[in-house]
Amino acid sequence: MSPVSDTMTRLRGRLAEVRDLDTITMTLIWDQQTMMPPGGGANRADQLATLEHLRHEKGVSSEMERLLDELDRDLDGMDPDSDDACLIRVTRRDFEKASLVPPDLKGDLARAGSLGQEAWAKARESSDFASFLPFLERLLELKARYVECFAGRVDCAYDALLDDFEPGAKTTEVAQLFTELKGGLVPLITAIGERVVPGAPGPLHGAYARREQRQLALSALAALGFEPGEWRLDEAAHPFAARCGWGDNRLTTRIDESYLGMALYSSLHECGHGLYEAGVASELSRTPLGTGASLGLHESQSRLWENIVGRSRPFCEWLLPRLAEHFAIPFGSMSPEDLFRTVNEVKPSLIRVEADETTYSLHVILRFEIEQELIEGGLAARDVPDAWNARMQSYLGVEVPDDANGVLQDVHWSAGLFGYFPTYALGNIMSAQIWERARADLPAVDEQIAAGELGGLHEWLREHLYRHGRKFTPEETLRKVVGGPIAVEPYLNYLREKFSDIYGIA
Ligand code: ZN
Repeated sequence: MSPVSDTMTRLRGRLAEVRDLDTITMTLIWDQQTMMPPGGGANRADQLATLEHLRHEKGVSSEMERLLDELDRDLDGMDPDSDDACLIRVTRRDFEKASLVPPDLKGDLARAGSLGQEAWAKARESSDFASFLPFLERLLELKARYVECFAGRVDCAYDALLDDFEPGAKTTEVAQLFTELKGGLVPLITAIGERVVPGAPGPLHGAYARREQRQLALSALAALGFEPGEWRLDEAAHPFAARCGWGDNRLTTRIDESYLGMALYSSLHECGHGLYEAGVASELSRTPLGTGASLGLHESQSRLWENIVGRSRPFCEWLLPRLAEHFAIPFGSMSPEDLFRTVNEVKPSLIRVEADETTYSLHVILRFEIEQELIEGGLAARDVPDAWNARMQSYLGVEVPDDANGVLQDVHWSAGLFGYFPTYALGNIMSAQIWERARADLPAVDEQIAAGELGGLHEWLREHLYRHGRKFTPEETLRKVVGGPIAVEPYLNYLREKFSDIYGIA
């Protein structure tokens, strides 16, 4: 064995251990959210903090540094796109970022996040923001210390947080994209609003049995292309997808017996995340490259499967008989076009995860603005509900009745995930760019979707996006798929075309 490959083998060995700790952590988080009795919360927080501590120590060990120093010298002679070269580059970046953060702080953040989630779940149940406030304040205090670790390396405090989810993204650039997005969305939503005839809630609202909803979600997911025996579906208050190991994909959904759209579309959404992770090239498994390039790109996939495919005319054609099989009333007498209009009903609403495609990004922009003010100073944690409610009124014209339906609806802040929200809207933007390119390459994709044959699209996405994993930066990865940088126009065009047609706007 040459010295280079020997060093590389040792690096890969160390990285495999780190990655195992990540997937073990993921498995414990999945368990906490789906199975664990609430009494286990405090001890689970300790367990997660211990794992985080171990992971940090392994990730920034002196051996890791020595291996990287040796391998850095060999980088010049390597194909820059090779797995090894990408592994060295990404590991160096991770190493440098992790070295800046003291292990105690990372452990404290993990513990505060775990306790925060338990407190949030209780606070949300009783719509009691005041009981959650001390946990939020503690998390913000720890996040301020986290940001300080990157002093002199970032343009603003929020950049340090954004980078954890969208590596390389800049707050100013994201703000500019969102200004453009908001500028396009507001007139579209206004034009639709003038056409909407107020009436009773649509047929997705009603009484729908839990068991039947689960069966429907399972049959839709089976069509999307996971290998049998490599995935499962469980219920969680805040649905997510967890890659717990090679061949072990855990999807979660929330079943609302009075709203059919929740389980069905949250399942499609999480399946999109799951397919991305499962589609990473097998050579990258048990390395830090064996996951998505960023949360924005991840979200581009969940939104593509949930909305661009799942709320399309062809998918409604395929879905309708399956819906009617489980719920003959009201779907037995419906046409595919009726279903298409039903699942694309535009209605400014309180809850982000229930928002239609046109208003969804405004929910995200609101959170992005509040987060920036919390992190950069200017907004105190106790004033967040007022800031939230005022912006819901001004952006969406919606009155927030209580905190459960307002500021307490999302789990993210309780877990310490600040800087995460903007990736949802970035994902929307990129989903349309990727879809535009896929359609151009797959002229029969509409007919295939209508027939429930989703393999062609799945394979295209695997080949152009999924297989790269985290080898390249998010920007480089997007360029490989669509040939250019992130751009808002394709998404606005997609929305204008679809909703002008539905609502008869000239
Ligand atoms: Zn998602």
